[in-house]
Amino acid sequence: MKRLNLLILGGTSEASALARRLAREPGVAPILSLAGATDNPAPSPVPRRIGGFGGAGGLAAYLRDKRIDAIVDATHPFAERMSANALAAARATATPLVVFTRPPWKPQEGDRWIEVQSFDEAVDALGARRRTALLTQGRLQLAAFARAPQHRYVVRAIDRPPEIDALPDCKLILARGPFALVDELALMRNERIDVLVTKNSGGAATYPKIEAARALGLGVVVVQRPKPPKAQTLHALDDVMAWIEAHRATP
Ligand code: NAP
Repeated sequence: MKRLNLLILGGTSEASALARRLAREPGVAPILSLAGATDNPAPSPVPRRIGGFGGAGGLAAYLRDKRIDAIVDATHPFAERMSANALAAARATATPLVVFTRPPWKPQEGDRWIEVQSFDEAVDALGARRRTALLTQGRLQLAAFARAPQHRYVVRAIDRPPEIDALPDCKLILARGPFALVDELALMRNERIDVLVTKNSGGAATYPKIEAARALGLGVVVVQRPKPPKAQTLHALDDVMAWIEAHRATP
């Protein structure tokens, strides 16, 4: 069987888990691709490249140049542009592609969720009265909260987001997940959080904040996911490994 040149579009715990698994597979030559969104990405067990490709056209050229045989799109469910580009480039070059992602979280008994479609709606959902909101949704949407300066914001991020300067009453906590339930409970209690704002990222690594909010009876503003890419989608690492194996066997 041939050695499969596999491009993993990463930036998630799914991509890291796949890379760790493939590091032990002699039949696959993986390349893990990251956007370069964080200053100090975690070490990679497989060869890695960092930075954008230059749109769908740039990615198609990369696929041809590196003789990529298959793509696993393991980007975050909110990385809409990358997933759309990946699908377009895969079609243009007839490269097989599978999406490896986690299912969304579903509200459980005791959850006090307000589900919204956008960050603009999330800002509105905080209301007019002053509250302390824990923002964990990532740097890109921080600036949206500047139009609700009546609230106190506690922002958790991996690197200092420049957008934070737009928020007048704000505390920054620099940390990289996964976070344990006990730590999430302590953070919410110590900072007197009233409401949590989060994307519906899904997955286990960041779920303890949802459990902590449930335990403390806090409201959670949950931003729903964008439309998923129209491609074969798998949720389990073993299924992705089987998909890769099937493409190794294809001449
Ligand atoms: P995005 O809006 O879909 O992507 C913006 C641009 O960044 C893409 O057009 C592409 O540039 C480049 N890019 C994104 N992912 C890349 C990758 N894995 N390898 C190479 N280039 C990549 O994505 P985003 O929401 O900014 O997220 C950026 C990265 O952070 C993604 O890899 C994602 O998996 C990870 N992440 C995102 C979130 C989130 O909430 N959005 C959360 C956790 C992790 P070109 O067009 O130049 O190719």
